[in-house]
Order: sequence, then structure tokens, then C-alpha cells
Amino acid sequence: MINHRGPEFKALLGRLQAGMKPYFGTSSDIAILSCAGTGGLEAAVVNTLSPGDRVLAVSIGAFGDRFAKIAEAYGATVDRVAAEWGLAAAPDEVRERLGGGDYKAVLLTHNETSTGVMNPIGDLAAAVHAAVPDALILVDTVSSLGAVPFEMDAWGIDVVATASQKAWMAAPGLAMVAASPRAWAAMETARMPRFYLDLRKHRDAIVDGETPWTPAIAVAFQVDEGIRLMNDEGMAGVFARHLACAASTQAGLEALGFELFAEPTHRSKTVTAAHIPDGLDWKAFNGDLKSRGLVVAGGQARLMGKVFRVGHLGSVTVEEIIDALSTLEAVSIAFGREVQPGAAVAAAERAAAEAALQPA
Ligand SMILES: *Cc1c(COP(=O)(O)O)cnc(C)c1O
Repeated sequence: MINHRGPEFKALLGRLQAGMKPYFGTSSDIAILSCAGTGGLEAAVVNTLSPGDRVLAVSIGAFGDRFAKIAEAYGATVDRVAAEWGLAAAPDEVRERLGGGDYKAVLLTHNETSTGVMNPIGDLAAAVHAAVPDALILVDTVSSLGAVPFEMDAWGIDVVATASQKAWMAAPGLAMVAASPRAWAAMETARMPRFYLDLRKHRDAIVDGETPWTPAIAVAFQVDEGIRLMNDEGMAGVFARHLACAASTQAGLEALGFELFAEPTHRSKTVTAAHIPDGLDWKAFNGDLKSRGLVVAGGQARLMGKVFRVGHLGSVTVEEIIDALSTLEAVSIAFGREVQPGAAVAAAERAAAEAALQPA
């Protein structure tokens, strides 16, 4: 192990910062916290808000609900605007709901992992700015940053948080959090209790190439390697690969007769949720998938037993998606579902080729 207060770690922290800033779309420093992604969301809340502050939580699924609960746990007065699960948040509805209220912050989710929906954050941020110009915008970008374009500075986003185990291709253990100048100013007067997650301590430590507490160094090495691979591929290449993987997953699942859960216009580029068909013994079906080496996720919260989810972010290729679809096809046939052999792979290949022609 290297000394986390020595020159190697300082260089490593510098590479992480430089590698991630373009994906955040920010020139601000990025705090590297040793915790799960949820810790990054908690840091966004406790550093910028005070007990009693009025907050609008825009939730489109389980992770949006979690963000709201964190703010509530620390004493914020949380109003909620919820979209039906499977839909994105509507900028007009958010603008109306905010309408001149004394909101200190708005909580948004970029990619709702529980439903497979990706919110139009640029449009939502514009709606917030128009309705309550002083409100801070805190965004859960845990399962999107590093896979799809994001423009923190240009969109006027105040805090974003992501985590090592998602697009960064590493093990769990680090949360990466960036804050705007407005958010840094808010931290000076925010009164929610904080110590381990105090971003000001991180800001002061970054100057010396350090973190305030002993970091998860092994995970930092992994993220460093993830960024090296991403740099080799180039940002446009990374985004194009995610578009192709999403398109091929979605086309392939539909060709296998699975109905997708998310509305077509806001389908996620990093995870796809599909309905579990009526009458399918999901436990047995999923057991068969597992025995053939394919791991898909079940539904969360109220979607438990109703949907399954295929992750396609980070270390993933169209070839791997096609392998997964072949496995899904074989198990579908074994379970007597009506599928046309080869149709899913053909649809996936076609979708991937079409996606390659779209601008990122
Ligand atoms: C994975 C994820 C998180 C964080 O999960 P942790 O288990 O705390 O790392 C938060 N939000 C979204 C949208 C996620 O996908």
C-alpha cells in the first residue's frame, strides 16, 4: 500500500480530478469521499442546507425517494413532486410547482436506476432557474456520470454526486462530489450537522493533494485504471458505446417479447427495465439465467417482482449485450415462450449500427 499522504497518492488524486472533470462538465474540484454513492448524496444535502429549509424533491423512482428521505432525515422541510414510475419529470410541472416559493434547493435524479428512465437535466435545471433563481440544484448522477454527456457548469447545477462502482468501472467504495461556487458559498452558512462528509475539509485537503481522512486507496487505483481506459477510448467513444449498448439491449429485449418499462423518449442509456410477463415463473427463469452466467437485477421497492433490469454501463460492449440476449433467448425457449430464434440478436445488431450513426 502507498502512503495516502505521499507523492504517489497526490499524483493519483490529480489524475482522478483531471480525468473526471470533463465528464462532470465542470472546472470545479471534485471531492473524493470514501463511502457508497448514498454518502455522496448525503454530502450534497448536509453541506448546503439547514434544518427547516424548504426543499423540492423531484422523484421519479426509488432513488429519487431516497434523496428526499436524506433531506428529511436532516430536518429539511421536503415537498415532493413525483412522476408516475416509468416517466421522466416534466419541466413545466416542476416550474409550476416551484412557482415563486421560498425553496432553498431542488433535488433531482439524472438516471433513475429503479425504472430505467433518464431525466432531461438541462431542461429541468432551466425550469428551476426560471422559477426560483436562488434555489440550489442538487443532482444524483450516480448511475449516469461517465457514461453520458453532462454539463454541470453550463446547465447551472450546484452539486452532483457519482460513485466508483457505476460508469467508472471500479469496485464500490468511493463517491465523487463536485460543487459550484454558489454551493461552496452556501456551505459557509449551512447548519446541518456534518463532520466526515464536510466538503470544506476536502477542499482544504485537495490543495495538498490529499483527502482529509484515509481514503479507500485500492478503489482509487481502480478508478484510475477506469479513467485510463476511458481516456484511451475518448469521451465521444465512451458515449457512443453506451448509446449502442442501450439501443441494442432495448431492441433485443423487445424482439424477445419483453415490454420495456420506461417511456420511449426518456429511456436510460445505462440501465433498461422490462416488465416480467404475466404467467412467467420469474424465480425459476432467473435461476436459469444465473446458471448460464447471466446476472440481471430484479425490481426495487414497488417494482419488486414486476420488472427485471439489465445494466449496461461502464465496462460493457455490444458483443456482451448480444451474448446476454442469446442467453435470454435460450432460456425463453426453454420456458416455452414464443420467440423467433435469432430475431433478438439481429434486432440488437441493427439497433447498435443505427445508434452508431446518431450524434452523441
Ligand atoms: C447506485 C445508485 C445510488 C447509490 O447507491 P449506493 O449503494 O449508495 O452506492 C444512488 N443513486 C442512484 C440513481 C444509483 O443508481
